[in-house]
Formats: sequence, C-alpha cells, structure tokens
Amino acid sequence: MCGIFGIANQAEASRLTYLGLYALQHRGQESTGIASSDDEQVYLHKSMGHVADVYDEDTLAKLKGMNAIGHTRYSTAGDSSENNAQPLMVTMRYGPVALCHNGNLINAVGLRRDLEAQGALFQSTSDSEVILHLLARSQESDIVEALRETVRQIQGAFSILLITKDAVIGARDANGFRPLCIGRLNGSYAFASESCAFDLIDATYEREVEPGEIVLIRGNNLRSVHALPSTKTSKCIFEHVYFSRPDSIVFGRTVQASRDQMGRLLAKENPVDADLVVPVPDSGVAAAIGYSAESGIPFAFGLIRNHYVGRTFIEPRKAIRHFGVKVKLNPVRDLLKGKRVILIDDSLVRGTTSRKIVKMVRAAGATEVHMRITCPPTTWPCYYGVDTPTRKELIASTHTLDEICTRIEADSLGYLSLQGLLQAVKAKPNEFCSACYTGKYPLEFADIIPDAKEAERQLDLWEESLKKTS
Ligand code: AMP
Repeated sequence: MCGIFGIANQAEASRLTYLGLYALQHRGQESTGIASSDDEQVYLHKSMGHVADVYDEDTLAKLKGMNAIGHTRYSTAGDSSENNAQPLMVTMRYGPVALCHNGNLINAVGLRRDLEAQGALFQSTSDSEVILHLLARSQESDIVEALRETVRQIQGAFSILLITKDAVIGARDANGFRPLCIGRLNGSYAFASESCAFDLIDATYEREVEPGEIVLIRGNNLRSVHALPSTKTSKCIFEHVYFSRPDSIVFGRTVQASRDQMGRLLAKENPVDADLVVPVPDSGVAAAIGYSAESGIPFAFGLIRNHYVGRTFIEPRKAIRHFGVKVKLNPVRDLLKGKRVILIDDSLVRGTTSRKIVKMVRAAGATEVHMRITCPPTTWPCYYGVDTPTRKELIASTHTLDEICTRIEADSLGYLSLQGLLQAVKAKPNEFCSACYTGKYPLEFADIIPDAKEAERQLDLWEESLKKTS
C-alpha cells in the first residue's frame, strides 16, 4: 500500500503536498518523497522515514514551483530501501518527469526482463520503474498519448501521479483496484488516495479518477482521456475494511459508514450474549460502535492504543512476554474485569495478534472473550498492492473456524459473511475485488500470459519477491 497526493497551480504546492502526505501517513510509513516543478525544473526530496521527520523548512523551500506530487511508501514489490523510495525521477523527451505509484503491476517482472534484454538500465527493484521505461520508449510527442500507450502495456493495480515541468497527471487502471480522487482548491485541482488529505488543506472532494481514466492538469485546466475501456471494476474491498481512514471518502463512499454497517451486520449474523463490545483500536472502532448499536450491548474503549509507537523499539534485555502487542495496546482493567467481552477486529490474517490480544483481555479479568471479525476469513494472498503473506501463513487457509478459535484461545469466533461485507459497502454488481476471501482473481497471471508454464513462472517470481520484502 502507498499514499499519493498531488496538486497543480498552487503557490505553496510542496507545502500543501507535505500536509496531504501527513494525512496519508497511515498508507505507508517506510519512506516518503515530494517532487515539485516550476517551468524550469522538477525538484525532488525523498528519504526513508515518516513525513514529520523527512521534511523541514529548508527541504520544503527547495521544492519550488506551483506543482507538486508526493508519496508515502509501504513496499509490496521491491525491497524497502532509499533506491525504491518514490517519486522516481528521470529525464526523457518530455523533460524531467517524476512518478508516484500505488498498487502492484502483475506483469512487471516479464516487462522488466524484456526491457533489460533490450539494454534498459534499471535504478531500483521497484515494479513502478517499468512505467517510466515504457513511457520513455513511446514515440508520441504528447505525454498523455505516451501514457495512454504505456497503461495499455502494464497489467495489474496502478493509481499513479506524474509531474512534468508544467503539469500534474493522474491515472488509474481499468479495474480501479486502488483509490484515487480529485479535489478542488481555489479554482485549481488536487489528487489524493483518500479525501482526508483534502480536508486538511481546505480543498473539496470532487470525484474519483475513473477506472481507466488519465487526467492531466495544466494551470487550472483539466483534460480527461478515457485510455482504457472499463467494463467491470475490481475496487479493493479491504480499503473499506482496514486500510483507509474512516473519515475518508473512498470509491465514492464514506469509510466510517461502511464500517458501521459491517458492525451492524456482524451483530445480526453473529450475535452472542455478552456484557461489553470492545474494539481493537483503531480499525475496529467504527464497526464496534455499529455492533453495539445493533445488539444493544454497551460499547467501551477497553483497549487503549499508544499512537506514538514507531516501527522499532528498544526492548529491555530481559524479554517481556508479548512485548510487540503490549507496547501498542493496553487493557483498561476496571472496564474488563468480570465482563463477558465481544472483541471487534477488522481482520485476522496470521492470527498471531488476535491470540495475544485475547490473552491480554482475559488476563485483565474478562470472564469470556468472543472474537468478531468485520470481514470473511482471509484465505488468499493479494496480487494488487495489499501486503499479505503466502497462503501457507494465512491461518484461515489452513485451519477451520473451530481450529482458529482454539488457536486464538477465544470462547467463540465469528466472521462477517462476504454477502454482509458487500452489503455494508453498498457494492454494485461486479464493483469490488474480494479475491483475498474467494481466490477469484479478477486479473490472473494466466489471463495475461497465455503460456501456462510461463504464467506459473511469473507467479513463482512474484511470490519470491513477496518473500524478499516480508
Ligand atoms: P494477524 O492476524 O496477527 O496477522 O494480525 C491481523 C491484524 O493486522 C489485523 O487486526 C489488522 O489490523 C492488521 N492487518 C491486516 N492486514 C494487514 C496488512 N496487509 N498490513 C498490515 N497490517 C494488517
């Protein structure tokens, strides 16, 4: 996952982008970068780390010009290193160009191999770099036409932003896997993965970039090209389950409302006699409120999250049991003591976190712990930009419901059905991708690589690259 933001024709473009990225920090915490432009040049600053730490007055002052794009990275293809931090910048016939990408290209390995065979020099291991190579090879003199040619060659999930000396361009794959929306600020335009980035800079949400659409902003003008036919979309349902912020509009609907509905439907599908509904913060909160409203069982913040935990922390020499979870979450003993607790969490992936949380709640005095999950069992890995482990590591692909319940040491376990989840997000027919629950991949390797052996090889290479990054 990654967060992307862009703005055109604004006096403080790089500062506004910095703020936009601040609001999108939850989408990627490994590295961040901003590229800005005036009529002369494209300027770039990027580094490993969080938005708050990577930029200061000096770096932002050097990011001159009225246009800017930015990125927060969570690697799913290519390792986590400065080389792979985005925006990626190159110079080509269109002058200096920088790129931000959210998603995963499923044919990047093959395209890269072909390009390398033709002599292309790659600077990173990121799948995103392939896009720049294809763009540079186009014979089109107009960058939008070149991009139209490029997006027809790449397959998979891509919401991308490009910046040139005088324009900002947004594009989205035909399936619309990952979000990208357009906002307005004083007559000019902005792009963001989620609308919460617009709220912070007082921009207004206008619409989604349509699946298959390329949008070029030059000055205050918007040019839209429908580059790829989009008959059937596959928007990522996990954005509404977990990734996006509840205060965001994603795929045209508010995430908070979806999660509230997930909680309500979960209560209908999986009721249990208990005293307290407790969310696993933060992603379980909105659904827990819905579960409580539907069931009439009181809601309580029985687990408190420390919001200042970084990616690493120094542990004491004498190990503390379950330190990784404890440092993030702490139970409110007074609330939990003697209570039959329903714990609401967004998803159960490997099952290791849930097991520790159930133990923690029981140790705090809960007499029963019932786990409720706001999506169906996660049984298949994602090829379109969500960081999921291989099938073997997904607890629900190798264990039954009862076995998982025993493994996490809960008194009962219940998931929201796929039908319930689709209802909660108000899905239109064929609108969402739910391959992580069904294994029905909207874009299979085999669809794009007719040779079955080669398709299998690409899949192996893909899984290999996932292992390297996890
Ligand atoms: P576990 O079952 O131990 O793998 O942990 C599941 C928890 O991790 C869920 O409660 C989510 O909040 C969180 N989670 C789910 N999917 C992801 C993901 N792709 N990346 C990071 N965290 C995730």
